[in-house]
Amino acid sequence: MIIVLKPNSGQDVVDHVVERIKELGFTPHLSQGVARTIIGVIGDEEKLRAEPLQAIEGVESVVPIMKAYKLASRDFRAADTVVEVKGVRVGGGHLAMIAGPCAIEGEPVFNEIADAARDAGANILRGGAFKPRTSPYSFQGMGEDGLKILKATGDRLGMPVVTEVMDPRQTDLVVRYSDMIQIGARNMQNFDLLKEVGRTRTPVLLKRGLAATVKDVLMSAEYVLSQGNTQLILCERGVRSFEDSTRNMLDLSSVPNVKGLSHLPIIVDPSHATGRPDLIPSMARAAVAAGADGVHVEIHTCPEKALSDGPQALLPAAYQRLMDEIRALAEVMGKTIDACEGVHA
Ligand code: PEP
Ligand code: MN
Repeated sequence: MIIVLKPNSGQDVVDHVVERIKELGFTPHLSQGVARTIIGVIGDEEKLRAEPLQAIEGVESVVPIMKAYKLASRDFRAADTVVEVKGVRVGGGHLAMIAGPCAIEGEPVFNEIADAARDAGANILRGGAFKPRTSPYSFQGMGEDGLKILKATGDRLGMPVVTEVMDPRQTDLVVRYSDMIQIGARNMQNFDLLKEVGRTRTPVLLKRGLAATVKDVLMSAEYVLSQGNTQLILCERGVRSFEDSTRNMLDLSSVPNVKGLSHLPIIVDPSHATGRPDLIPSMARAAVAAGADGVHVEIHTCPEKALSDGPQALLPAAYQRLMDEIRALAEVMGKTIDACEGVHA
């Protein structure tokens, strides 16, 4: 349920309600707006009665949240959440332009690709060090050596970095090297992993599962939020379908759909959604037009030598053209693209 306090309630009222909720054995989650404070109480609503809380001085109303996801819902937070990834804002009118190779394959090639991403105007650098490959015989990523290259390159360019974590036991390690942690499609319902990243205070990029409904995605988001990590960005990356001319089926309607249901930012990954460089630019533009809070694109300087996802990688020149188009679109949409430290606008 959510407890709405009267406008301009003092800190003493907030403290009193928080104390009462804790006494009852529940965890309060605060959402402090300019004039109003809302307190979310998560737990078994059968055991929590509204009337006694309603009686507290300063409480305006006590409203049950009927949706299964609560902290992720617009009912809990009306304003868009803005996530900050090392100074780069995402959501609430700010676009994340995430680019980089599928996997970190070595220092020279990663540096070259990262330079291209930065030169085109990307504001977050990606690269996988732990790769969730369909085959155990495919390249599995460079592990910690890859994380070291990722961090050093991000530092050199002044760009925040994002990389995937696949195992709860890797979380501490990945957090040491990365400014945002990605939960991949295959792990969207790895609930122990969601709880573990929820316990950190590092921003999380949560990708939609291969066969996950919008509600499933929001329930997974709830796992992260319920552990206290509010820095969460969702990512639409297509779902499995009968169509086999594209890698997955991009569900662009999920963008405005999620925006109606949740305050969380949502970006689109047209690379994994289509698997085809010829379709990525148009789907990236469509994503921004649909209201997405950013675009995640895999790029490579030599796709034919890439150790994973080479066939879907955009060449730097194509990414540069796409970024020019997205900058123009962003202006029409009234959105801004924060420059990261390393890029002087
Ligand atoms: C990736 O980002 O490289 C990746 C494996 O994506 P997904 O989890 O969406 O398949
Ligand atoms: Mn990939």
